[in-house]
Amino acid sequence: MAKILFFNVPGHGHVNPTLPVTAELRRRGHEIIYYNDEEFRPQIERTGATFRPYPGTPPTSADIIAAVNGSLIDVTLLVLDSAARLLPGLITEIQREQPDLVIYDSLALGAALAAHRLGVPTIASISTFVLKGARGMITLRDMLRIMGQFVPRIPRFSRARRALVKAYGQPLPDSLVPVVGDFNLVFTARELQPETDFVDARFAFVGPSIDPNSRANTDFPFEQLTRKPLIYISLGTIHTADRDFYQQCFEAFSASPGQVIVSAGSTDLGMLGQIPDHFIVRPSVPQLEILRRADLFITHGGMNSVQESLYFGVPMVVLPQQTEQLFNGRIVARAGAGLLLEAGGRVRADHLRAAADRLLGDSAYRETAQRLGDALRAAGGYTRAADLIEAFVHRLSIHPSAA
Ligand code: UDP
Repeated sequence: MAKILFFNVPGHGHVNPTLPVTAELRRRGHEIIYYNDEEFRPQIERTGATFRPYPGTPPTSADIIAAVNGSLIDVTLLVLDSAARLLPGLITEIQREQPDLVIYDSLALGAALAAHRLGVPTIASISTFVLKGARGMITLRDMLRIMGQFVPRIPRFSRARRALVKAYGQPLPDSLVPVVGDFNLVFTARELQPETDFVDARFAFVGPSIDPNSRANTDFPFEQLTRKPLIYISLGTIHTADRDFYQQCFEAFSASPGQVIVSAGSTDLGMLGQIPDHFIVRPSVPQLEILRRADLFITHGGMNSVQESLYFGVPMVVLPQQTEQLFNGRIVARAGAGLLLEAGGRVRADHLRAAADRLLGDSAYRETAQRLGDALRAAGGYTRAADLIEAFVHRLSIHPSAA
């Protein structure tokens, strides 16, 4: 049986797909020590893995939320800064534990560098599309926006990179964000991944890793879901919308004969004013169980939300809140499984209603979502991910230099 150290970052979107894989590896008898912030201890311990906090001071979910709400460059800076800070402690940790394999999230750069430095075989867990080098995804407007965000941060970026080079003491890998491993598990299907030369034989597409049993039990009044169509609205776990966003949602669907569920995250529900009777608004909802029943998903386009929606054959209106979600929305819209509304948090009720009517009125969107859902399921999910991890470890035991 293998001894595996798993390093992740404190974000639900990055942790959720790894939970069923970890539980499956534990069922097969492997030892797993899973590093993350204390906030994630309960769900990690439920998989049967040993939870352990990072040595040193890793970023918290609040740091990640602040960076993601800034820009892609802020996320990159957070990744570089924390890698430089954590690297010495992680090297000591991995040296002491002597694992057969280190698995790390593709943003857990410190763990990746520590494992590479020690020559321990590695697998990266990639919970997003691989957008590096993706053809036809980035428009000139995107480039200009990204450059506009990058230029004022060049001095900070150079300092962070220098600090990391110093801490690492040898040339950095070509790709830092995402950082790749000897082998890479991408939690989507090949059919959905945009074309990119960056992806080679070291990448396996395993589809979304979905197991409702790995989720926390969230109470929800399912018996109240009596009206159709069922519309589900969520901007995920990181972004908080303001009062206006929810007012626009209320207005858009005030006359709907159906039912609307809203996952409002950390938004103060008290500030939402009068909530229409056919809306159910909660800070958090059991998303998989709701998608199983939903006719339409109005989503920020987080990777997990997009895939979970397709998995259950639900078409989407994507309202991206940041650049990665914009690309996810483009992928959904180009595939014909939904519509992209580029309005940030400022969406208008009439646009929302028109998009919803179009998706609900044309069965082609649902059929496409179902077809892509089939492709995602066929990619194998968490059991195939566990098979591939075991096969990788097995190859190493025969050819230790195979990594
Ligand atoms: N989620 C959930 N209940 C909610 C809101 C979100 O279970 O009320 C889950 C959802 O199923 C998904 C994750 O949280 O697995 C959100 O990840 P995603 O990548 O979509 O967005 P992020 O929150 O990282 O922006």
